[in-house]
Amino acid sequence: MKNTKLIQFKVDKERVLVPVGQPCPFGCRYCYTRTGEVGPARVKPAEILELFQEFAKTHAFEFIQFGYDGEPFVQPERGVAMLRELAVFAKDISFSTKAYIKGQTLEALATLQQTMLAAQTTLVGIVSLSCWDSALSVEPHTPTPDERIATLANLKRIEIPTFIAVRPILPHLSLQEFEQLTIQGLQANCDGFILGPLYSDDKGRFARCVPGEVLKKTPHQTIVVSWSAHSPLWRRYEDEKQVQAIADMIEAKGGRIFMSSADVLKFASRKGAMA
Ligand code: SF4
Repeated sequence: MKNTKLIQFKVDKERVLVPVGQPCPFGCRYCYTRTGEVGPARVKPAEILELFQEFAKTHAFEFIQFGYDGEPFVQPERGVAMLRELAVFAKDISFSTKAYIKGQTLEALATLQQTMLAAQTTLVGIVSLSCWDSALSVEPHTPTPDERIATLANLKRIEIPTFIAVRPILPHLSLQEFEQLTIQGLQANCDGFILGPLYSDDKGRFARCVPGEVLKKTPHQTIVVSWSAHSPLWRRYEDEKQVQAIADMIEAKGGRIFMSSADVLKFASRKGAMA
């Protein structure tokens, strides 16, 4: 097994994931970052960036994804400063967030996006939103769905192409709940929706917010997670019928569907500044 106490990188689907290196206080009940299986909880930005620089010297890749191990904007200055440093690598960069981004943080991101567009690269926003009415119980300490939609609208206003990550898809939620977030996302001019599975370790952690009888009936496979350099062996829960129903509903409303954030980066890169 790989040492999860170390920062590690890998190229997967032409992208490299870069960690935030700071624990996230939001406490979503399906969160898989707290067990340390996708990397160490606390690392200084300088250390992450130095190791990434070394990695980049010997590996070819097209995209950088920031923020798979935590929330980039828990400490907004730190997140923005890391993005600025990553922009030096001259790649398209996405960041994933559940934060309510406004004010000075938004202004700093607007400036960074203008610099990146001038350098023929782009910053791409991915706002995580996997439920609506259930957020109160599933994501009790996280910015509300309304606040995340406001983040999306704010990012679009500053010319950052922005997508909604509907992941994990929780198997006990009704289609109506997904419909609610789709309508709100499209009204805020969202560029597309990324659908993704629910993960759990062999102790059932990260999936405890799903009622046991539903989880038992949800199809799953035990896999090595390909996007993580630490290669955790997790259960991947995905009900194809549910995914298809959500995808059909989103497309019927005029939304774009993606099955991976790597595909989103390729799409946004081809389109340039879509906002
Ligand atoms: S926002 Fe992300 S990192 Fe933070 S608790 Fe929720 S799932 Fe975990």
